[in-house]
Amino acid sequence: MSNDNVESPTEDPTDDDMLLETDVTSGLEEGTQGSRTTHERTIVEAKDVNVWYNQDQALRDITMQVPENKVTAMIGPSGCGKSTFLRCINRMNDMIDAARVEGELYLGEKNVYDDDVDPVALRRRVGMVFQKPNPFPKSIYDNVAYGLNIQDIGGDHDAIVEESLKRAALWDEVKDQLDESGLDLSGGQQQRLCIARAIAPDPEVILMDEPASALDPVATSKIEDLIDELAEDYTVIIVTHNMQQAARISDKTAVFLTGGELVEFGDTKKIFENPDNERVEDYITGKFG
Ligand code: ADP
Repeated sequence: MSNDNVESPTEDPTDDDMLLETDVTSGLEEGTQGSRTTHERTIVEAKDVNVWYNQDQALRDITMQVPENKVTAMIGPSGCGKSTFLRCINRMNDMIDAARVEGELYLGEKNVYDDDVDPVALRRRVGMVFQKPNPFPKSIYDNVAYGLNIQDIGGDHDAIVEESLKRAALWDEVKDQLDESGLDLSGGQQQRLCIARAIAPDPEVILMDEPASALDPVATSKIEDLIDELAEDYTVIIVTHNMQQAARISDKTAVFLTGGELVEFGDTKKIFENPDNERVEDYITGKFG
């Protein structure tokens, strides 16, 4: 796919415009993170999303509604398309020549695959954190301010950098060394720096692709606590190969299985305790995968 010749939307819709109201009345169970609101508004909606890499189909007819300000986990065996789906949401698959995406994928009311969507502007609204911490070879400050600079975001950058580092639970550890290289931090600190970098432009959605899989248990636990806090303000969509982690941190779980199918999607508690689908039960109980 090409990014050429697409323009930014001329006017950003209001927050309310961007959210599709779904059933907010009754019958919604609280997620595992009981402190968060039980209201569910859809912020990301996939309708019949299919993805191919050349001739090989990686995702089949994915339809799902991701609720706002919750943690949604995507689990399933390796190669079942979790990362591919994540990359559809901020159009990172555009950068893969072999990838072809069909279907509709809405952020609020806008199909992100419409011709008038600028992928760079989209990525301001949908930040991403990768498996391996990837700070730039720049100072801690410049890492966090990076998105503000390239996306020409005004305001008091010092204040935004401080606030982002605080939200990423890193400020106290680095506030006296903001001019030092981000690469000198520990792995866990580097990942929190990448989270600070992702949240500095104030996105609505944060995509995380196995963000703790390269970290030790202590650093992993910090990231998990942080994800819980981030969901107060952001929608977090996380791919994890670690089922216990999905059960611990997510409100909703999507189970992808081999062949690129989304086999079941629902409240995390239900998926882990009483899934509807037999294949999901077999996967959760370790019979395969
Ligand atoms: P998961 O995240 O569940 O491990 P992926 O989304 O990475 O799955 O991969 C889904 C399928 O797409 C796999 O068969 C994988 O080999 C293929 N795939 C992923 N990325 C590429 C790529 N850049 N080029 C070609 N095939 C790819």
